[in-house]
Amino acid sequence: MPIRPLPPVVVNQIAAGEVVERPASVIKEVVENALDAGSTRIEILVEGGGIERMEVVDDGCGIPQDELPLAIASHATSKVAALDDLEHIATMGFRGEALASIGSVARLEIRSRVRGNDVGGVIIVDHGDVGSAEPAACPPGTRVKITDLFGRVPVRRKFLKSAQAETTRIRRVVRDLAAANPDVGFCLVSEGRTLLNFTASDAVSRINAILGKEASSQMLEVDLSRDGVSIWGLAGRPDLARPTAQHQILCLNGRPIVDRSLRFAIREAYRGLIEPSRHPTVALFLGVPPNRVDVNVHPAKTEVRFRDDRLVFSVLKRGLEQSLLKADIVPPLRVSAPETQSGGGHRPLFGSGQRHAESGLLAEQAREILAEASPPNDPVSIVDSARPVIQVHRMFLVTEDADGVLIIDQHALHERVMFERLLERIGSANLPSQRLLVPEMVDASADAIESLESLGAMLTRLGFDVGASGPGMLAIHAVPSLLAERRVDIGRFMVDLLDRAADLRAATDEETALRDVLDMMACKAAIKAGDSLNSRELADLLSMREQVERSSNCPHGRPTTLRISIEELERRFGRR
Ligand code: ADP
Ligand code: MG
Repeated sequence: MPIRPLPPVVVNQIAAGEVVERPASVIKEVVENALDAGSTRIEILVEGGGIERMEVVDDGCGIPQDELPLAIASHATSKVAALDDLEHIATMGFRGEALASIGSVARLEIRSRVRGNDVGGVIIVDHGDVGSAEPAACPPGTRVKITDLFGRVPVRRKFLKSAQAETTRIRRVVRDLAAANPDVGFCLVSEGRTLLNFTASDAVSRINAILGKEASSQMLEVDLSRDGVSIWGLAGRPDLARPTAQHQILCLNGRPIVDRSLRFAIREAYRGLIEPSRHPTVALFLGVPPNRVDVNVHPAKTEVRFRDDRLVFSVLKRGLEQSLLKADIVPPLRVSAPETQSGGGHRPLFGSGQRHAESGLLAEQAREILAEASPPNDPVSIVDSARPVIQVHRMFLVTEDADGVLIIDQHALHERVMFERLLERIGSANLPSQRLLVPEMVDASADAIESLESLGAMLTRLGFDVGASGPGMLAIHAVPSLLAERRVDIGRFMVDLLDRAADLRAATDEETALRDVLDMMACKAAIKAGDSLNSRELADLLSMREQVERSSNCPHGRPTTLRISIEELERRFGRR
């Protein structure tokens, strides 16, 4: 077959596959255009989840009649003149293909009048058929109407969800754009019902309007900037956490974005303060100099790439941590260390204070007490979809999953989970460390001390500060926070470590030695057979299980979990 260029309609339809996934993505493109046009109020009407009809009306600058054909041509834009501009993108759209794409998979009608002109113009693209621009009477601004989305691309239409589900997505898109543009009024009406209505306001009022009265009294301000990267916004107190991440709004330079690593930073900041299966409520606005971020990696521009993702990650996390810390440190007196049901004092299973080594012991304790004291000890309220679980002989946990009955070794699982988490953390930073008020002294041979000191760099990464203190004596100045929090006997731990020091030193690479010590730490800090667990700890442990990969074996390779399948049980009981 000879090589031929694709006809423009097909090219646009292919492009549409990337930009126009569903009604919500159309709304996003069209509303972004309205924002770029300097609108002060944007009204959005949808019917049938947007599949039947969507209309976006703005009061922006408008499009001159003679430019209407250009607006709907692909790669035509008023926003980027040269490639160099891509470095300094400030507007929302710049690929110049949104309208062309939409026009190729729907009926698109644009009516527009430039303020000050007597008449406006109208142009229609009907599933790729481009009409001519005609004069038309209309108010200043632009009205974009889209009907019959994917009407001639049945394959695409099949992928859409119910009208209600599509409306929910549209609502979320408009909500996020509204959060990012508080000075613009927004109104979203679906089937005659007003779903969102925001008047122009300041950023805080806008977020509060979005979150609703109840949540807005529970929000803490976040504000931090470092090396040109800034984070501002509101973060929910831990008890505002929800079962899904849909209440998280994240914007970069005024544009809503989706970013897995930043979501992870948010989680990290709340680690130990909320149940691992829940998601904090936040509305956060990142500022990163445009030349240090590439927003053009994804056609819909929701995913981005940072030149310095570590910096962005850490500013976000740190900003959140700081406000959480500031807020939580106030009321520790109120909770005068109530004993938890376990009776064993409060040793948070996953080290609630781990991250704040540098913020002082008092803050640590306040946090720890609060984290332990506030949530009720009722398993049902802890993990949303909690399965029933019982502890057997203070050694095993018995619960169910979709396939049958699970029997879990509590020590092996906790050890596994901690090992994974420590390993993950140490990939990005040193483990948090806690200084001892009085150094702990341990007897040790000169050889052992020497071996240990040669592992100095690795021990620092783990959060240890140890050194010789006279002949035959080792002084421990600081230990990993985890060990302190889990009340591990530091002296004994160090004796074990000294025993292994020579072997570790001989290990071929630092990573192997590091894993070895992490393994020891996880084992020593983990709950033991014989420890009774309260319902909160049970729930915590189980929800961690689902999140940690390879959790069915402990670091030593012993299984953490056994399953008896329903089929097996049915067989044994003669039901099959
Ligand atoms: P892009 O936004 O990437 O430039 P689009 O296909 O979304 O590409 O839009 C093409 C052009 O049409 C824009 O560059 C802009 O000049 C014009 N335009 C689109 N929508 C509007 C609007 N609501 N108001 C004013 N101009 C608009
Ligand atoms: Mg656009």
